[in-house]
Amino acid sequence: MGVYIPPNARAQELLRNMKINSIPTPVEWICGKLNIECQITSEITVEALIVKGVSSKRTVIAVREGSEYYSRTRFSIAHELGHFSIPDHLEEAYNCTLADLNNYQGSKPGKKKAEIEANEFAAELLMPSNWVSQQIKSNDVSMHMIKQIANDCDTSLTSTALQVTKYCSDRIAVIYSCEGDVCWFKKAKGFDLYLEKGALSKSTLASSFIYSNPSLNQEVKDYVPLNAWCYDERNYNYLIEESLFMPKLRSSLTILTIPFDEYEEEADPEDPLFW
Ligand SMILES: [Zn+2]
Repeated sequence: MGVYIPPNARAQELLRNMKINSIPTPVEWICGKLNIECQITSEITVEALIVKGVSSKRTVIAVREGSEYYSRTRFSIAHELGHFSIPDHLEEAYNCTLADLNNYQGSKPGKKKAEIEANEFAAELLMPSNWVSQQIKSNDVSMHMIKQIANDCDTSLTSTALQVTKYCSDRIAVIYSCEGDVCWFKKAKGFDLYLEKGALSKSTLASSFIYSNPSLNQEVKDYVPLNAWCYDERNYNYLIEESLFMPKLRSSLTILTIPFDEYEEEADPEDPLFW
């Protein structure tokens, strides 16, 4: 048994071997360099798959055509490159569903471990942590910043928000809600509130996308009461919520920030921004 090398280090290794040191990462070019045939096709029923070549046959990666966003196709290709590059991924073929590609939580060990590892590999391949850390070092994380990084890396907002949260020490959490329910969340190191999955409170801004016309107001930012999101006792009673509605996915992405000045400023009861 060799030393365990985590998936993100495997992705860094591949970038080094390919002498890639700028973004966006050219995933289809990497496939060509590795002699992998890469198809975008309507012929498959799963979201993406890899069939590894044996003897003289070429390895094939196929991604289902019709994804609304090319950034998702890129993530799928990078995910399959993970199954190709991680030595423990011994299966000859991996058929990956949308749920596999969205499996960030790491809550299902065992059979799905390879899928989580392939997602970690893909995130690092497309958004190298060194580069991401540089971007977030001197600025507070905001939706604007995540959009900028997603644009630079040609990645989805969701995968970008996750990668930023992973490497940031701000007091933020990223929350993904679908049709009125919190599906998953990821907290940065400094975010110490208890969050849970399930129905969104009507006091959240994210819930307003369900109860109003979503096409009218696709992005909102405001103060919200602490108990819109959690029931922890704190000496502050509000959070900053930035939510963005993604109508094609019937989902919303939220950045929740704990105000930085909690120990320094008293909330002014006359100020309508505070509760
Ligand atoms: Zn997979």
